[in-house]
Amino acid sequence: MSGALILFSGGQDSTTCLAWALRRFEQVETVGFDYGQRHSAELAARPRILERMRTLFPAWAPKMGADHLLPLEVLKTIGGTALTDDRAIAMGANGLPNTFVPGRNILFLTAAAALAYRRDISDLVGGMCETDYSGYPDCRESTIRATEQALNLGMEATFRIHTPLMRATKAQTWKLAEELGGDALIELIRLMTVTCYEGNIRRSHPWGFGCGKCPACALRAKGWRAYLDGKDLNPPWKDYPSYERGSMGWRMGGGEDCWLVFWDWFAFGLSDRQRAEFAAKHPEPQGWEGTYGDMVKAYRDRAASGGR
Ligand code: ZN
Repeated sequence: MSGALILFSGGQDSTTCLAWALRRFEQVETVGFDYGQRHSAELAARPRILERMRTLFPAWAPKMGADHLLPLEVLKTIGGTALTDDRAIAMGANGLPNTFVPGRNILFLTAAAALAYRRDISDLVGGMCETDYSGYPDCRESTIRATEQALNLGMEATFRIHTPLMRATKAQTWKLAEELGGDALIELIRLMTVTCYEGNIRRSHPWGFGCGKCPACALRAKGWRAYLDGKDLNPPWKDYPSYERGSMGWRMGGGEDCWLVFWDWFAFGLSDRQRAEFAAKHPEPQGWEGTYGDMVKAYRDRAASGGR
């Protein structure tokens, strides 16, 4: 039986990788690492995401095997990084942000391979990506291939390390998730995965939860907008025809999500010409006159007051 072990952190990338693996392998196990991250939001999200994945995708559920959590507190002991210590995120003199944890992915892959060896698994899957990141050298293809070779030599094994996101932009990662699991997977990733360096899971945005200011949030927001660029959304009244304009339904639950996502896409993501084309294709129905213009105005007012 073909099995794989996924490096699963509870973030957008590794959740997409998990879905990728579930489409390719008959049995999939997951491993996470507790390295004394400043914020436990990611670790706390892991079991919830796995559970939701099983419910949303019954065809995948029987393939989902053990979930492992390995302590790698040595990274916290060494410290000196904004991901493990309480310090502000900034650029270092070496041209890397101080969120860089030296050797982290090499350590993760080594620990994952040792576990995979014991579990008789030879395929490892990780969300490393050299495209959008801040130049982390341990995310590069060359590092991954060299690590794979070292692991195979050192364990006399035939591990294959798969990195399906290696050349993907964040927008392409969203697109891949859509291809793998449709809108249901997009919603799961949007609402349940944690990317934020500050571990903020309370502030809601069209692209999910996060502080909205740290580099990881900025990257996620940018990717989300670029992803929506290639996609026409429904105007809100088409998704929720029973809600009247201005009603409470737009300020809670699915109605609010739908409103915010559309607003962000329409007012920020489209050019004036694209907006005019969209409005011609989807005219405002009775009771909704002036909505498009109001959305753009509200967005500009918010931007002018420093809201974005
Ligand atoms: Zn953030």
